[in-house]
Amino acid sequence: MRREPKRRAKPASGKSKITPAAKPAYGRVAAKPAYGRVALVGIGLIGSSMARAIGRGRLAGHVACWSRTAETRAAARRLQICDSVHDRLVDAVKGADLVVLCAPLSANAGIAKTIGPALKSGATLSDVGSVKEAVVRDVAPHLPEGVHFVPGHPVAGTEHSGPEAGFAELFEGRWCILTPPKGTNRAAVERLAKFWRAMGSKIELMDPAHHDRVLAITSHLPHLLAYTIVATVTDLEDHLTREARDKGYVIDRGEVVKFSAGGFRDFTRIAASDPVMWRDVFLNNREAVLEMLGRFSEDLTALQRAIRWGEGEKLEALFRRTREIRRGIIEAGQAGTFKATEEKKK
Ligand code: NAP
Repeated sequence: MRREPKRRAKPASGKSKITPAAKPAYGRVAAKPAYGRVALVGIGLIGSSMARAIGRGRLAGHVACWSRTAETRAAARRLQICDSVHDRLVDAVKGADLVVLCAPLSANAGIAKTIGPALKSGATLSDVGSVKEAVVRDVAPHLPEGVHFVPGHPVAGTEHSGPEAGFAELFEGRWCILTPPKGTNRAAVERLAKFWRAMGSKIELMDPAHHDRVLAITSHLPHLLAYTIVATVTDLEDHLTREARDKGYVIDRGEVVKFSAGGFRDFTRIAASDPVMWRDVFLNNREAVLEMLGRFSEDLTALQRAIRWGEGEKLEALFRRTREIRRGIIEAGQAGTFKATEEKKK
């Protein structure tokens, strides 16, 4: 069984505002559901993983969901991961004690505008978006008085999408960052934190702008690099193939796939992530990503120079430092899994 870390969850400025759980509650059935009715707006990878984790721990009296297309709603019905699947958005959120927006960031403003008038007084509205300032900007203006707004971001995911891709264990041992605006009802924040802990997450409180800068470097920039590398390599392959053909060689097209185990394939996994979700992340966290990209370019130029001038010691020192960082990530239980061998095809 994993332990809750000793460190207390801290907001970006000032003292811890929520109490750490004495023991992790996930994997056990809750004595009392955290919420009566939970509505999941969007039932893709994250929404369906929540539905499964809530069902497993019996963390809600009723789980309602809505999805934009009839196809995804049919999949949710088939999978039986929610108590009710609604064709109309307002029907899903009506009477809910907790509503969680699990759709792409660009859909939030429209959804909030539609559901705002239907939200119950005293309900909590949260989300799972990967950028937080934009969520506050898009959602807060549509919420009526008496609704507690506690944005959230589970730092957990895969490159897959849709309700079939979800699984109950997705959040286990992963951080969930809550970014409540100043003055948010403390009990509402505590209750949501407890709910996420019961799904296996560890909780951190942050200011939205701080969240966006931290995630720009730890998540958004690595995705941008993966998208770029995969595109550059495939363009290069086209170029090399044409060049070889012009010289009269017969070359085997498809070397990218053939030799991809040499490091490239880890990038291809990340670069397979959902195009709409990542388009929204970059458009909604523009400034922080551009800032981190600037810093990264400077470091890359320094590395380029070290290679050009044959500065082996500099390269080795950097690579030793980064290897230590990887070891720290493994020790912190945040490394995930990596298999060097292939799964056998069924
Ligand atoms: P997903 O698997 O693609 O599911 C998206 C859900 O949103 C589906 O129910 C989809 O409905 C609905 N949707 C799509 N476009 C919509 C629109 N224009 N209006 C209303 N609903 C729409 O996505 P996901 O990976 O769960 O991501 C959902 C949210 O979680 C995103 O905000 C993302 O930033 C955040 N997040 C993702 C990850 C990750 O690794 N994937 C990790 C942490 C946080 P239909 O299928 O019916 O179109």
